[in-house]
Amino acid sequence: MFQSAVTALDERRLAVIDRRYSGDSGGGLLKAPAFLCQNGRHHVSGTDHRKWLGSVQGLGPGQETGEALHPDLATVKELQEVDRTIADLTSRIEAIPSQIKKIEDQLNAFLHSHEEHKSRLAANQKERRNLDTEIQTIRGKISKHRDQLYEVKTNEAYRTMLHEIEGEEAKIRAIEDQVLERMVEADELDGLVHEAAARLEGEKQRVAAEKRQLETERANDEGLRRDAEARRQLLADALSESTLRLYEKTRKSRGTAVVQVIDGSCGGCHVKLRPQFYNEVRSSDALLACESCGRILFYVPPSVGEDIGEGTRVAM
Ligand SMILES: [Zn+2]
Repeated sequence: MFQSAVTALDERRLAVIDRRYSGDSGGGLLKAPAFLCQNGRHHVSGTDHRKWLGSVQGLGPGQETGEALHPDLATVKELQEVDRTIADLTSRIEAIPSQIKKIEDQLNAFLHSHEEHKSRLAANQKERRNLDTEIQTIRGKISKHRDQLYEVKTNEAYRTMLHEIEGEEAKIRAIEDQVLERMVEADELDGLVHEAAARLEGEKQRVAAEKRQLETERANDEGLRRDAEARRQLLADALSESTLRLYEKTRKSRGTAVVQVIDGSCGGCHVKLRPQFYNEVRSSDALLACESCGRILFYVPPSVGEDIGEGTRVAM
């Protein structure tokens, strides 16, 4: 039962790691871990070895079968992977609230804009009514002036009255221009209000569905993180105290605690290993740390068909 639980965790963890590194063009997950010792060899006691065999061996993938491999190495490599998985899950979980806030803000902006268009449309209609009233008032004046035209006694007074009527008619034309502008604006606003009203319910439902989706993802990630933390505990318990201490210390100071040796150089600080030390890393059953940066080193022999130059001994 435990075995299958661990296997399921491994699969989910790999899926998370796949997601994390998809699209990552550089600096991705190191192909293989490394092991280190701070200042030289890290010998494992028989007790440690038995503990490791009893607790971790056969529990999951990642176990090295290379000859004379330090028993802590596979465990500390996996521990690093599990820690990365936990860190990824944590950053995903912590990002959820801001993602939810973002879509809520988008919906609120949509609703706010909709309300603003509606109130501008209402104001527009009120302005048009006021302008219409103004026009009616002026028309009343003009009508009165026209009646007065018949009553004036002099040409001078007649011309003055006509001039006044023309002035009022000009005012009406100016107001009618304003009415026209309001009508154009009302057409636009009306279109926006209708379009938004038609989308409103759909938008609300979409945002609610997205929020539910994010909440589900958070719950899933929290479950995965609990599994990973349980696995972490198991791995940490399986490590010798000195290796665990070294791992934690290096992880804290360097970020990455376990790195692969690539072309004879430390995969963390890229400093070339001394030839003798390089040979020890490749063949020793000791857990070795980079002499430059202190990261735990591991070596992956080239597979069959690859350039065997990497696998040949360095002459000393
Ligand atoms: Zn280094």
